[in-house]
Amino acid sequence: MLHIRNYINGGFHDPRSGTWLENVEPATGEVYSLVARSDANDVADAVAAARAAFPHWSGLKAKERSDILLAVSRKVHEHLEDLALAESQDNGKPLWLARTVDIPRAEANMAFFATEILHTETAAHQTDAHTLNYTVRSPLGVVGCISPWNLPLYLFTWKIAPALAAGNCVVAKPSELTPMTAFLFSKLCIDAGLPPGVLNIVHGLGGECGAAIVEHPEIKAISFTGGTQTGETIARTAAPMFKKLSLELGGKNPTIVFGDVDIEHTARHVARASFTNQGEICLCGSRIYVERSIYDRFKQAMIAETEKFVVGDPLQESSRMGALVSQGHMEKVLGYIQLAREEGGTILTGGDRVSVGGRCANGFFVAPTLIEGLDAHCRVNQEEIFGPVATLIPFDTEQEAIAGANSTKYGLAASLWTNDNARVHRVAHRLESGIVWVNCWLVRDLRTPFGGVKASGVGREGGVEALRFFTEPKNVCIQY
Ligand code: NDP
Repeated sequence: MLHIRNYINGGFHDPRSGTWLENVEPATGEVYSLVARSDANDVADAVAAARAAFPHWSGLKAKERSDILLAVSRKVHEHLEDLALAESQDNGKPLWLARTVDIPRAEANMAFFATEILHTETAAHQTDAHTLNYTVRSPLGVVGCISPWNLPLYLFTWKIAPALAAGNCVVAKPSELTPMTAFLFSKLCIDAGLPPGVLNIVHGLGGECGAAIVEHPEIKAISFTGGTQTGETIARTAAPMFKKLSLELGGKNPTIVFGDVDIEHTARHVARASFTNQGEICLCGSRIYVERSIYDRFKQAMIAETEKFVVGDPLQESSRMGALVSQGHMEKVLGYIQLAREEGGTILTGGDRVSVGGRCANGFFVAPTLIEGLDAHCRVNQEEIFGPVATLIPFDTEQEAIAGANSTKYGLAASLWTNDNARVHRVAHRLESGIVWVNCWLVRDLRTPFGGVKASGVGREGGVEALRFFTEPKNVCIQY
């Protein structure tokens, strides 16, 4: 059976403990590889390698680092098919989705930050005729990047690319549920000529290996994407060490549909925003507020669109939805659907585990599920489910829609559907959310700030924000 080994100092290593975790294919429920169960000793090895590599890597010209990272990006492009297949098998997502979204985005992440560092500016401030300030930004040293299972290589590269481009050396940990593409990526880094120790990938459990990264005193910053509770734990550990922290956490995103929209068109896009990637995207809309004047017609259109999300073997092109990432996660999602029934909700479509049959007979499949009749403040409408479950909630006034949208502890992304331009700005500005999409969803420009407010996180990724996070400014003030 394939062993997913740690990538430290440019080579592959078994975990120091000699222990391995089973890696399950969600579509079949079968163990298909073993992943290193690393601990603080492996993290210490990775940090030592990263520290040794830092002077050379940070001393390269931006163009030299850029060339190497672009070579990594090209390797990802060349291996698109293998990586997409691996991502689909490891995560349960449809192969076509990994091929068209996840892996191209990983390639784009590497290329974007590799080239962004060629176009930065250094600030200078003239105080008076005799005084000039200029500000230099330096890499931090060794940084930690911890990423989740839902968009494995996509989010892994979203973190490591700016960290490396800015001149840092990295110790990274993918989720132990989806380690495969990060493992394949490490081989591509070797082929692309990334110097040993610049990137180190340690695999293992969050509470062991992840915690060891956060606790290590030589790791100067942590960039983390994952659940809000894990973010709290990380912040508690990192704060007394004054580490820089970027926390991209959970969401419970509102979708607001006003009565002036084209109902069929909007329902199609709102269903996509709810169920793409099995609803396992932190940006998916899970609370759909609909103006009462169109509620019944929109509901019928949404049911029809939801039922088009055919659940099936992730390897088949016809499957619009694949398997959830793990048995535990499937049980959590089914538990919330049961809770919705207990809280008085009506299941309009879906609501159950799906039996796909064949090689997928034991896979973790759940039907896309649409629910109505729940109070906006009930648990199902307040807690993150992170699966193919969305609720419909009618509203009468703009105020009511905004209040409902802002009623959870989260504030990651919102989407707003209306043709009234004045309303677009009025509502968008009042939503407590790091990102607002208007008449679209998941349209991404990598230059824009990405992140959430409230319990959805601290800090922003993307564009210059990411390079700022991974560097420290120093002001030099000269009188002459
Ligand atoms: P988790 O918080 O469980 O895990 C995220 C990562 O952190 C994993 O690599 C995990 O390892 C690791 N980890 C877990 N515990 C610790 C710890 N104590 N110290 C350090 N690292 C730890 O999240 P999930 O993987 O379950 O991902 C789903 C969550 O991620 C959802 O809440 C979702 O909203 C959020 N998310 C947010 C995004 C955003 O941009 N805001 C984007 C995508 C997802 P392991 O898996 O091995 O336990």
